Amino acid sequence: MANIIVLDPGHGGVDPGAIGNGIQEKDLTLGIALRTAAFLRGYGADVRLTRTADRVFSNDKRADLHARVSFANNINASYFISLHINSGGGTGFESYIAERGASEETGRRREIVHRQVKAVFTGEGLPDRGMKAANFAVLRETRMPSVLLEYGFIDKEKDASLLKDALFLDRLARATAEGIARAIGVNFFKK
Ligand SMILES: [Zn+2]
Repeated sequence: MANIIVLDPGHGGVDPGAIGNGIQEKDLTLGIALRTAAFLRGYGADVRLTRTADRVFSNDKRADLHARVSFANNINASYFISLHINSGGGTGFESYIAERGASEETGRRREIVHRQVKAVFTGEGLPDRGMKAANFAVLRETRMPSVLLEYGFIDKEKDASLLKDALFLDRLARATAEGIARAIGVNFFKK
């Protein structure tokens, strides 16, 4: 039984996601996901990404989200992590699990991942906005534990200046990979 981790870099292609301060969400989510995958593979994990380039499954937003979910469901993934950047005037980090139907295990893993990633933000003086729940398609429709991470606000100058720093993206990726590894347990990666 393969233990597969799916990383889902939000947006891509025709859909830039949030934009602000000269940067685009789709580029940041891909950058963090590729780095996170590298760290996880270093631990021996089997990691698959819903995209590894500036593209989407479909230019139709709904169809694209369905395709990302199907990608994970079809390979019977063990954990689904969707990576996003926030906008709308806030600042700091927050994470989401499904509003309805999230398992106890989903909540347990999320707490561990959240704790790791939030430390990178609070270490820079940015707030922990908390562990939240929402009715997002990728959380609702995935058949395995899933979490969605919002790595700061692209339209907030301080958040954006950090997100422009490749070393900061490295730190976010390392924390995310570490969180996932701790949440799932090291034995998970043994082949
Ligand atoms: Zn997004």
